[in-house]
Amino acid sequence: MLAALHLNESVPDQVVWSTAADGLYTVSDAIRILMQSNNTVSPTWPKVIWGNNVPSKIMIFHWLAILNSIPVREILINRHILPSTHSRLCVWCLNEPETVNHLLLHYKWSSNIWNDLFRWWNIRWVIPGSLEAFSFDWFFGMGINASKFWKLIGPATIWAIWMARNDYIFNGKFICRSVLVQNIRLKVFLWATNLKFCHGLHSYVWEQNPFLLCY
Ligand SMILES: [Zn+2]
Repeated sequence: MLAALHLNESVPDQVVWSTAADGLYTVSDAIRILMQSNNTVSPTWPKVIWGNNVPSKIMIFHWLAILNSIPVREILINRHILPSTHSRLCVWCLNEPETVNHLLLHYKWSSNIWNDLFRWWNIRWVIPGSLEAFSFDWFFGMGINASKFWKLIGPATIWAIWMARNDYIFNGKFICRSVLVQNIRLKVFLWATNLKFCHGLHSYVWEQNPFLLCY
């Protein structure tokens, strides 16, 4: 790569985004390159994640979680950010390593949150082994023609679990599961209303029979 370069000492160094004609970085160009790339993740991912209608900080969190790059204990220790002597165990159950999939999907408290949400939508679903596989389920509607809602519910839920985990670790606070699930439902109702997905329906319908919005 370097052999092809001709250095000119009279020109000051500068940072150039090499794929753009004007050398300037833009998010849209980065997304375009990611969508062409088959190296690390499915090229479908940038499209579905970045095209979603959730706040950008949650979108980024979802993306990083799929890439196994959020600061759970297992990752912090593997990257030597925490010493190898530090506990890898999940802060809640103290029984299994705190990995992305354990924390967000499979730890009993987390899986019960998902099961509450499944019951709310009147569906039976088995939580897959990975967040990536589960995210595909959200983006294809959980078998109930509800992708536009589950694309919001899924990210809202992993974000809520992550916030609850941090509040427990850093502030010693524990949020009750029913309150957390209610917060998720309210938050998604507000997003869905802003996106005009709810056809002006009262939040009562959303609470009781959200699947009615899918037909
Ligand atoms: Zn655990």
